[in-house]
Amino acid sequence: MAQRSLRFLGAAGSVTGSRHLLKNNNEQYLIDCGMFQGARVLRERNWQPLPIEIGALRSVLITHAHLDHTGYLPRLAHDGYRGAVYASQGTAELMGVLLPDSGRLQEEDAAFRNKHRITRHQPALPLYTEEDARRALALLQPQPLDSTLALSAAAQVQFHRAAHILGSCFLEIRLGSGDDARGILFTGDLGRLRQGASQMLGSGPEPPDNVDYLVMESTYGDRLHPDDDVAPRLAELLRAALQRGGVVVIPAFAVERTQKLLFLIKKLMEDQLVPRVPIHLDSPMALAAIEIFLRHTDEFNPATRDLIRRFGQPQNWDHVFFDHSPTASRAINNQAGPMIIISSSGMATGGRVVHHLAQRLPDARNLALFVGYQSPGTLGFEIRSGKNPVFIHKQPVTVRAQVAAFEEFSDHADAEEMISWLRRMPRPPRRIFLVHGEPAASAALAQRIQRELGWNAHPAAWLEEVPLE
Ligand SMILES: [Zn+2]
Repeated sequence: MAQRSLRFLGAAGSVTGSRHLLKNNNEQYLIDCGMFQGARVLRERNWQPLPIEIGALRSVLITHAHLDHTGYLPRLAHDGYRGAVYASQGTAELMGVLLPDSGRLQEEDAAFRNKHRITRHQPALPLYTEEDARRALALLQPQPLDSTLALSAAAQVQFHRAAHILGSCFLEIRLGSGDDARGILFTGDLGRLRQGASQMLGSGPEPPDNVDYLVMESTYGDRLHPDDDVAPRLAELLRAALQRGGVVVIPAFAVERTQKLLFLIKKLMEDQLVPRVPIHLDSPMALAAIEIFLRHTDEFNPATRDLIRRFGQPQNWDHVFFDHSPTASRAINNQAGPMIIISSSGMATGGRVVHHLAQRLPDARNLALFVGYQSPGTLGFEIRSGKNPVFIHKQPVTVRAQVAAFEEFSDHADAEEMISWLRRMPRPPRRIFLVHGEPAASAALAQRIQRELGWNAHPAAWLEEVPLE
């Protein structure tokens, strides 16, 4: 009998730091290599060495480009990993933008903390540099969507469309043969099954095949997404803020969410539902991300393709500014409203948006608009929950700006959709491990799976190792 096990090195009891170690006899595979984000207690885990022997790692498999699934890879390369990293073509292209940017932001952030002496560590160090990120990217071996790849004589992986973001996949791994064969499916992040107005990708996730073990995300395991059309409420909020001369600050992940918003806001402006004001895309990678996005229009639904046809490339819109350099970013500070700033990170845990929030939150004319998941412990979560003042770079900042949030932009399946997706699995897996969820969300989904499907589901614990029999 083969010796097999699975160990949860992250995204167990939390939504970030996805890393799962799969052992098959003497072969070891890491599925996702994400960075912990959010509360300090989580971020500090990034500084603990991975409890694996890097030399024994045969390959790294990536579900999708989000940093909570890829952001630790440069550190792995820094620590000596030289094996293959497999990801879909779209994911590989997005990582080519995201990882160097992540390295650069960490270098900028460490420099800022050292300059202003706001660090608990002397000196503050980046987790990794832009150069480490480039070293990691050199290991990438892009794979076509829906393809199957032999990882060894005893293991293969299939990349199925997960419809979460461009290039996203769930991974079906087959180990061994005959009676000893086992299938393990890692969902990564699952996209929406119900197609709403804010969805961009063509269709929902592919149905799952029969497997013996399932490692499933549970971000929205205790919630349902509203199905309302976001456009009228978005238009009303933007119009009110812009008409009072306000600055709208939108913390948004630079890939996918930013493009989705950009095209939606453009449409509202062209339909004269929102005043036509300058839009600043304050991210060094905004332009590159848009170029990748426009290269993969085949993954998008007809409505999105229509918008792209109607408005052309955002690079040519005369009221959109790509603020690539730190100087251009700082210059925004001297500009008065009305205008819109879209900047990352999406949970305001770092990056340029933190500086914009510090500057714009004290003014009652302004609007801070949240369009993504805000994890507890993040600045975004605190502002969204009404905390006042909030502390930014250790300084109190009074929140007078209007604060609003949307759930509808989510690229994650909600609890109902996850159950529907599971129902498509022809027979129940032996075990389901729930990852990538706050404890309450994972527990709620586990109960629901038990109740509605009669299947056994277990929220994974951080560093827990389970045998796969
Ligand atoms: Zn994701």
